[in-house]
Amino acid sequence: MLILLKPDVTPEQQDAVEKHIRSLGYVPHVMPGATRTAVGITGNKGALDPEPFRMMPGVADAIPVSQPFKLVSREVKPEDTLVSVGDLTIGGNELIVAAGPCSVETREQIVATAESVRAQGARMLRGGAFKPRTSPYDFQGLKADGLKLLGEARAVTGLPVVTEVKDVESLAMVAEGAEMLQIGARNMQNFSLLEAVGELRRPVLLKRGMSASLKELLMAAEYIVARGNRQVVLCERGIRTFETMTRNTFDINAIPMLKQLSHLPVFADPSHGVGVRHGIAAVARAAVAAGADGLLIEVHPDPARALSDGAQSLTFAEFKELMSGVRAVAAAIGRSIAAPVG
Ligand code: PEP
Ligand code: MN
Repeated sequence: MLILLKPDVTPEQQDAVEKHIRSLGYVPHVMPGATRTAVGITGNKGALDPEPFRMMPGVADAIPVSQPFKLVSREVKPEDTLVSVGDLTIGGNELIVAAGPCSVETREQIVATAESVRAQGARMLRGGAFKPRTSPYDFQGLKADGLKLLGEARAVTGLPVVTEVKDVESLAMVAEGAEMLQIGARNMQNFSLLEAVGELRRPVLLKRGMSASLKELLMAAEYIVARGNRQVVLCERGIRTFETMTRNTFDINAIPMLKQLSHLPVFADPSHGVGVRHGIAAVARAAVAAGADGLLIEVHPDPARALSDGAQSLTFAEFKELMSGVRAVAAAIGRSIAAPVG
C-alpha cells in the first residue's frame, strides 16, 4: 500500500498517518517526492484496505501496490531515483562509466589504469580488493592492501571508487575505503549482507545473480531499501544460458524491463556479460541504446597478465575505442558521456 499525502499536509497529520501504520504492526517508509510526499507500507501479509487511510486528514489517496517488491517499484515512486556518488549523479542525463581492473594488483597497475580511464572520460574507478573466486586456489584479492591502493589511485585521479564487499565481516573496512559498495553476482541473495548495507548510507551497486530473475534482483534491492538505504543502482552483468561461446549471456531485455519496473538507476556490465574481449564494445553500445544509466568496464594495462578476468579486460586503447562508440550512441538518444580529458 502507498499513501499519497496532500501537498498541504501538516506535520501533525503526517505523524498521525505514520503512527496509525505502526499501530497496525507495519512499517511506514516516508518518501519525499518532487510534488508530494508518499508513505509506503511494508510488513503486511495480505492486501490492506485502503479506505480507512483515505479517510485520514492530509491523505490524498491510498493505492494498493501490486508488485511483491514495493519500495523499489515505479508504482510507489514514479520519478527516477538519482544516486549520488561523491559529486557524481547516477540516473540523470549523463551516463556514468566506471572502469578499472577486475582486481587491484599493484600500485603501478591501479594508478596507471585509473589515469588512463579518467583521461578517456570514465567518472569512477572500479577494482576488486576482496575477490569472490570460484576456486579457492585462485587470487583472492589484496584485501586491505587493495583498498589502500584504491585510495592512492583516488588521490592521484580524483575518481571515486566502487569496490566489492564480499561479506559482513569486512563491510566496515570496505565502506571506509570506497565511495560505492558493489555487491557481486554471487552475493546477490546474501540476505545478511543486503541488510547490513541497507543500514549504511552509502550507495550500493547491486549486481544481478548469474541465475537470478529480474524479480529476484528487485527483491534483493528491496532488502537494502527496506532498511533505509535508498541509494541503490541495479546492474545487469549477464546470466547463465546454454551458450558456451561467451562466458555469460548479456540480457539486454533486463535494461528496459528494470527501468519500467523500478525507479532505481540501471548499470550494464558488458565485461562480465560477454566475458570475452570481442563483443564487449558492441554490447556496451547496445546497453546504452537500451537505456542503461551507466557502464562497468574492466580495463587492464596488460590483460594477458591479469590475475583475474584477463580474457575480458580491455587494453587502454580498446577502452578508448569503446568510449568513443558509446559516446556516439548516447548522443544519438539525447544523453551524454563525459568527453576525454587532458
Ligand atoms: C567483478 O565485478 O569483478 C565481479 C566479480 O562481478 P560479478 O559479481 O558480476 O561476477
Ligand atoms: Mn571481474
